Amino acid sequence: MKRNVTEAQSSATASAASPDRGVAASESYMNPAQAAHFREKLIDWKHSLMKEVERTVHHMQDEASNFPDPNDRATQEEEFALELRTRDRERKLIRKIDESLMMLDAGDYGYCEICGGEIGIQRLQARPTATLCIDCKTLDEIKERQLG
Ligand SMILES: [Zn+2]
Repeated sequence: MKRNVTEAQSSATASAASPDRGVAASESYMNPAQAAHFREKLIDWKHSLMKEVERTVHHMQDEASNFPDPNDRATQEEEFALELRTRDRERKLIRKIDESLMMLDAGDYGYCEICGGEIGIQRLQARPTATLCIDCKTLDEIKERQLG
């Protein structure tokens, strides 16, 4: 017994796909070297902020001595309030830096949370915790202003 398979002539119309259309650009964006650069930048920033927070705490502990003059006390309380606000801002920033580091791990860093587009190296250099591209950020700010 012989099975004769008549091979249908395959239509050899394999399209000659161009090897790189736009791929090169997105490959160079946030490549391992860039990701490493931003990781280092974020970690350095976080460390200096943590040092700053620590310094503020120590400063407040040192200054928390008794001021017999009520005016001095009032001034001191204002200073403390200001320092607490600064510390709060630093803490929030540290949290944002942690989020950015997690995004780096996940490979999402550098891409806009809204449109998924590239945030851009220059923008990230200036604002390493940016999660929105400049277009979405601008729109966001306009919306915020209208709501507020
Ligand atoms: Zn966007």
